[in-house]
Amino acid sequence: MQLTLWTYEGPPHIGAMRVATAMRGLHYVLHAPQGDTYADLLFTMIERRGSRPPVTYTTFQARDLGSDTAELFKSAAREAYERFSPEAMIVGASCTAELLQDDPGGLAKALALPCPVIPLDLPAYQKKENWGAAETFYRLVRALAGPRRERSRRARRSCNILGPTALGFRCRDDVREMETLLATLGVEVNVVAPLGASPKDLTRLGDADFNVLLYPEIALTAAQWLERTHGQPFTRVVPIGVGATRDFIAEVARLAEIDPEAASQVEPSRLPWYARSVDSTYLTGKRVFIFGDATHAIAAARIARDELGFTVVGLGSYSREFARDVREAAARYGVEALVTDDYLEVEAKVMELQPELVLGTQMERHIAKRLGVPCAVMSAPAHVQDFPARYSPQMGFEGANVIFDSWVHPLMMGLEEHLLAMFRDDAEFHDGAAPSHLGGKQTPPPAAPVASDIVVVWAEDAEKELRKVPFFVRGKARRNTEKFAAERGLETITVETLYDAKAYFAR
Ligand code: SF4
Repeated sequence: MQLTLWTYEGPPHIGAMRVATAMRGLHYVLHAPQGDTYADLLFTMIERRGSRPPVTYTTFQARDLGSDTAELFKSAAREAYERFSPEAMIVGASCTAELLQDDPGGLAKALALPCPVIPLDLPAYQKKENWGAAETFYRLVRALAGPRRERSRRARRSCNILGPTALGFRCRDDVREMETLLATLGVEVNVVAPLGASPKDLTRLGDADFNVLLYPEIALTAAQWLERTHGQPFTRVVPIGVGATRDFIAEVARLAEIDPEAASQVEPSRLPWYARSVDSTYLTGKRVFIFGDATHAIAAARIARDELGFTVVGLGSYSREFARDVREAAARYGVEALVTDDYLEVEAKVMELQPELVLGTQMERHIAKRLGVPCAVMSAPAHVQDFPARYSPQMGFEGANVIFDSWVHPLMMGLEEHLLAMFRDDAEFHDGAAPSHLGGKQTPPPAAPVASDIVVVWAEDAEKELRKVPFFVRGKARRNTEKFAAERGLETITVETLYDAKAYFAR
């Protein structure tokens, strides 16, 4: 295990907490040392939930290690049942408690509590948060969904929506968007899980005709099991972006055996027209670097290139379980996928690629801010501002509208090109000033290493011409031109050199 300042994913029991917190009537008894209760803050502070997660920690301390920690677990489980009367319980250990080898599953079984108790075996030193959430959801579905039953054909086809959890990126609003879309198509929603479902709801999963898989990181394993055991096919397209939402509607129509024309009732997205209406200098060919969980990163790359006209210069994910999908997607954009959970590697890549926009997680927001590059957050892990009070989905056509607003505005910053030119000598907009939303101070990334010891100087007219470049890309234009000149042995940068460099880097 590596000690780190920031991390994309917590240990797997945080994933289990995300499932338990999303559900109703489920309680999680976690064998964990005193300090591990910090995890509550993820839900109450970052997601702003109005109540604590339904978790009882054993909170053992150093002095307990010499005594019977197994007994401590047993009393915590017994008391949790008496106090909360859950419909079902999950039990497991955090990283530190795993080392005690107390076997929470076996201990809980010995208590013979009057509700289903599902043991979780989450190897904290090999796996991470999303895997933990997926394994927890799968174990719950497997334990509670029951055997396959006959489904009589009903007038309206029905589906389950699988995958939304607590702390997920815009899950609450994506579910609402999907419920509206499916209702417009004439498809009934049987159960949404884990978000908002009770253990009893999980026993009804087998009644649906098919499953809508919203977040593969969380629910792919459960969807595969339901397909094998209950004969329910599941959707493969994640409806983020206009094109993906259209593909998703076609897929649902096929699985539900309904006329895809029903989709004509759905209000389309404004993204395509808005994207065409924006001055093309803001969007066309903008170099974008994308990093997040696999689902959101892959979807973002498709929107960036096909719907906004950006050029994808980097694509990566911390979701190791989905590395293959990310690599396949990256190949479609002619880039090499970056699969890592080390944010320093991501930062080095951003510095190397010098994108004009970063689409990422909370970590990339920090990285981009430090480098003075515009950024939009489009994936977990996210911070408090990414759990907005307003309706703000990512999925479906309304999600595409939200995406347009949140990705394009960091590039426009409220100032049109002619205003930038008009005010370019203003104190606020001089070369050294970064946009106010990036902190006002520019910290230019170090220039890319140049294999030359030539010192290049700027001719006066070239320097003047450079000032016509909008301030937020001027630093980059300067560095690129200097690198271009040095590599070619040019000691003076003329206007011609500036435009040659521009043409060279635009290729
Ligand atoms: S030991 Fe595990 S659970 Fe405890 S703080 Fe560290 S990562 Fe979190």
